[in-house]
Amino acid sequence: MTDFIRQIIDRDLAAGRYPGGVVTRFPPEPNGFLHIGHAKSIVLNFGLTQEYAPARCHLRFDDTNPITEDETYARAIQEDVRWLGYDWGEHLYFASDYFEEMYAFAEHLIQKGLAYVDGSSEEEIREGRGTVTRPGTPSRDRDRSPEESLDLFRRMRAGEFPDGTYVLRARIDMASPNMLMRDPVLYRIRHAHHYRTGDAWCLYPLYDYAHCLEDALEGVTHSLCTLEFDNNRELYDWVIDNTPVPNRPHQYEFARLNLDYTVMSKRKLLRLVGEGDVAGWDDPRMPTLAGLRRRGVTPEAVRTFCEMIGVAKADSRVDMGKLEYAIRDDLNARAPRVLAVLDPLKVVITNWPAGEAADAGGEAGAVEWLDASYWPHDIPKEGTRPVPLTREIYIEREDFSEHPPKGYRRLVPGGAVRLRHAYVVVLEEIVKDASGTVQELRVRYLPQTRSGSEGGAAAEVKPRGTIQWVSATHGLPCQVNLYDRLFSVPDPDAAAAESERDFRDFLNPDALRVVAGAWVEPSVGSDAADTRYQFERLGYFWRDPGDAGAAGGGGTDASSTASPSLVFNRIVTLRDTWAREQEAATGGASGMTAIKGGGAEKGAGKKGTGGEGRDGAGKREGAPPPPVLTPEEEATARGLVERFALTPIDAAILARDEGLRVFLEETVAAAGGGDRGAGLAISVANLLIHTLPPLRKGRALADLALTPAGLARLVALMEDGTLSSRGGSLVLEAMVESGGDPEALTREMDLVQEGSDDVLRPLVAGVIADFPDKVAAYRGGKTGLLGFFMGQLMQRSGGKADPERARVILEEALRG
Ligand code: ATP
Ligand code: MG
Repeated sequence: MTDFIRQIIDRDLAAGRYPGGVVTRFPPEPNGFLHIGHAKSIVLNFGLTQEYAPARCHLRFDDTNPITEDETYARAIQEDVRWLGYDWGEHLYFASDYFEEMYAFAEHLIQKGLAYVDGSSEEEIREGRGTVTRPGTPSRDRDRSPEESLDLFRRMRAGEFPDGTYVLRARIDMASPNMLMRDPVLYRIRHAHHYRTGDAWCLYPLYDYAHCLEDALEGVTHSLCTLEFDNNRELYDWVIDNTPVPNRPHQYEFARLNLDYTVMSKRKLLRLVGEGDVAGWDDPRMPTLAGLRRRGVTPEAVRTFCEMIGVAKADSRVDMGKLEYAIRDDLNARAPRVLAVLDPLKVVITNWPAGEAADAGGEAGAVEWLDASYWPHDIPKEGTRPVPLTREIYIEREDFSEHPPKGYRRLVPGGAVRLRHAYVVVLEEIVKDASGTVQELRVRYLPQTRSGSEGGAAAEVKPRGTIQWVSATHGLPCQVNLYDRLFSVPDPDAAAAESERDFRDFLNPDALRVVAGAWVEPSVGSDAADTRYQFERLGYFWRDPGDAGAAGGGGTDASSTASPSLVFNRIVTLRDTWAREQEAATGGASGMTAIKGGGAEKGAGKKGTGGEGRDGAGKREGAPPPPVLTPEEEATARGLVERFALTPIDAAILARDEGLRVFLEETVAAAGGGDRGAGLAISVANLLIHTLPPLRKGRALADLALTPAGLARLVALMEDGTLSSRGGSLVLEAMVESGGDPEALTREMDLVQEGSDDVLRPLVAGVIADFPDKVAAYRGGKTGLLGFFMGQLMQRSGGKADPERARVILEEALRG
């Protein structure tokens, strides 16, 4: 399956359109740090050049606004793109280097009568632009002669006028249904210092004028931007068509990445930095590439994530779970497993042998250096490290319970557990302070039970589980930063808009928890610098590369014994706790947890299912096993990918959820099976996995009024353009509650998006018949009138025409 961008490029290359090769660009404005949304664009633009060699991708700074831009940002952006693994070679460009050419093109437009200098105020220009339903009114300066405009424009450049006195506007069409075409402003006066051109200019071009020229001057063939620039394309083409540029680039729009529980706009991220909500652009809570990097995420994981979400034309929000899945999957294979304890409870092994006097740990008894494997059985890697076991150790406070709940599989009075890589210990005594808080546990170890030794499994008391530990005398104290989602609601922007509050009101106060008194095994100290570890049962961690504690902020325990030189960031948890909450809320659909790669030991997942949580994990040595796909489920998932081209994640979710999968199969069959049905499968899966869960409100599939046949018809309506994706969700909701025919519902709910030629053609014919003069003018070369016709058409369709299809039919009819 290739996405629509690749289809366009394939088509262009097949037509022999770009013998010199494909040229793309990544055009950030240096007004902030890059975020994960930018990564999607980077992976797309640079990724294409790897697939379509010979091809190249330019890194171009779109630096036409002197007010907000800065050299620091330009440098950080280059570092981030390089970190992601891409190289622009010699093709580093700055829009500000083209100011002179852009200016010359502007004079050209003025001379052709296509641009004029306007003395209207900003306010007057806005007023005069009209509204979507009311055409604009021409400015009093619209008829200014080219000579006079040229003179004024040159004086604008010379610095004769203060900010705001004049602007240069394109002369296009004040009645265009596309508001952007109503004589857009091309240049404005700004007496401001630019970080690269200094004070050479006091006249700066606006985005819509500058961007297309930058593309054209560089020979860009495919200019890829996000959907909200859809309307700008008409202006993009107008500028290119009316200036003597050396090349003709084409703009294509794809859906921007929106990620749940975070915000994705440099302006908003800048506010978080400015207001001190986070410690900086590279705070590990931030969705910036610098933040992800500091947190410990690898560039490979970010690239995999971007490839996983793919490129499409429909806007959507992506679960944070998908990003976390990619991160876990990457770390599972690369992170050695070691032992750490976050909330230490001291344990004394009372029958531990005495040590030699010369031994550093002599007083505390002997030290036994265990040879412990770094890797679980299912990772084909080898390597061990020595782990010191001593008389005094720490275990996780949570791994002991005096009054254990049913099914508790850790340490209890009189019970036994296995210390990971070591011996079985039996709890004999609980030491408490005056307030009754447990201070220390005293255990006896069973010398015959060492892991891996002969008879290692045979213990007089059967261990309930396996827990991690760290030597109290040989372990290393450290600080651990536990990160969670930056916001407490999935869509902070929407929440802010709905409640008329600031998006910052929805920040998650627990997005960072600093644990000061944690311990790690000593092997981690020596080469922690760039190794990502799995702290068994706790998550993936790496040493914070920044200043110690800089990411910390408030909440640090003052009584910390942590050596400030050892601070670890939690990159990601072992399992997707969020998906489990989701699961509880939706009554069963398994989330991302289902997918192998959480660092589990093979086979453990099967035993560990059934909601035992962490305790189930204790059944096996070592790490808590997140559920793993069973071999059958894996085969099912593979089958789904092959037959329906589903993403691996969607396939895994369906493979684990029999009910949903059967529903998908039945829907595909109801849609006519074969290629026809299979063609709908991606959309069906998408609705079942992402749109349906909140609508289920905890009900079983069988209890919903929705049927596979109904769903098949709904998806068909979405695919043929009758329903937008938003309309589709609304109809789905109705069908979940009370069934019904999606077509009838679409009509009743007034959601028809009119894309069918049968309806559009007569409307187009009507418009053409009613405006013979305009049609003649269009055919005579005033192609800017297309906007006018589109406006008429949209009006006559009651706003329901599918704009893409409508435009095609209209253009056909206008050509005659
Ligand atoms: P922001 O609002 O975060 O500043 P922007 O689009 O203004 O975003 P630019 O620096 O102009 O930021 O963006 C550079 C490129 O990255 C553009 O081509 C833009 O379309 C793309 N881009 C920005 N945000 C996203 C996103 N969330 N998903 C995909 N591409 C994005
Ligand atoms: Mg921007």
